[in-house]
Amino acid sequence: MNKYIPEKVAKLDEYIPDNGKYDIRVDANESPFLPSEKMKKDMEKAFSGVAFNRYPDSEASLLKEAYAKIYGIESDCVVAGNGSDELISVITATFLSPGDKVLVVLPDFSMYEFYAKISGADVVRYEKHSDFSVDFDDISRVVAEEGIKLVIFSNPCNPTGRAYDKETIDKFIDSVDTLVVVDEAYMEFCTKDASVLSEYSGRENLIVLKTLSKAYGLAAMRCGFAIGNRELITAIKKVKSPYNVNSATQAVATAVLGHVDEIKNNTAVMIAERIKVETKLRELAEKYSFKVYPSDTNFVLAHIGDKSKAIYSYLIERSVKIRLMGEFLRIAASYSEETDRVLDLLEEAFASVFSVR
Ligand code: PMP
Repeated sequence: MNKYIPEKVAKLDEYIPDNGKYDIRVDANESPFLPSEKMKKDMEKAFSGVAFNRYPDSEASLLKEAYAKIYGIESDCVVAGNGSDELISVITATFLSPGDKVLVVLPDFSMYEFYAKISGADVVRYEKHSDFSVDFDDISRVVAEEGIKLVIFSNPCNPTGRAYDKETIDKFIDSVDTLVVVDEAYMEFCTKDASVLSEYSGRENLIVLKTLSKAYGLAAMRCGFAIGNRELITAIKKVKSPYNVNSATQAVATAVLGHVDEIKNNTAVMIAERIKVETKLRELAEKYSFKVYPSDTNFVLAHIGDKSKAIYSYLIERSVKIRLMGEFLRIAASYSEETDRVLDLLEEAFASVFSVR
């Protein structure tokens, strides 16, 4: 082994995104929608106005103002990132020192653990119950007992699809003497009262993460936000690289944020399509005895068991990519025709795989 590579990196499992081409992709929880002609025109105009010879606005002021306005928050309590992914990395670099303990609540988004380890932190892995419910009082106890420096979890959760309600999360934030990062990447799809965003200024220990990669349909541009009280946001800004969000992203994303009605319509379609996926999966689950988890997001998780790989492969052979996670499958909603195609193929796959006993 090359002696110049530190142990913390040598030990990491590489995160390898699938860059393959498929006819249908419902494996990454993206929006299936391209911008309308009207939105695209504004995006193109914004792009052509970029001063390509100059460094970007390090504050991403216009972008933050446009975003803050939508959620009724103060823009100086927001920091923009090159995707919320980058912000997870900047947050762990800001608030953690080697040997500090981070608590993750599994299963959850794998990058939390990844970036915590890169910061040299020790990861405490708290397991959810088998139905993915969580006893937050018990997590509070572990946080105190273990001297946890930072707790990070997604709400609603990727991959489980489940959202914990606002009251529960609020109470948890109050009960712990540690920094709590709540990743609300999928909150736009959640119809329950679950967001703690409104608490951002009144709490010293809360950071909320948001992204334009899901409901806003802008995954390609890489844009996310962290929201918290001014002191926390100032600390994050000190650590981030000065020009982390490029000018094209700032301009184009700002243009997209001027089309909230279109985003809302698309979000409503994705919610309706997710309900369709959930309903179909439940129907199949009754026939083939597997478990489907209720979802507050744009995707659905199912525990299939040892046939999961065979179902997944059946779809891959037909150029349809769903997400395989061990014995689980995760399927995102698309627009109607595409969702229907995925569901038809799933039905076929189950019939084919389960008949060969
Ligand atoms: N948080 C969660 C829970 C996610 O599922 C994802 C993307 N899969 C991200 C953050 C990263 O999103 P972004 O595209 O903003 O980096």
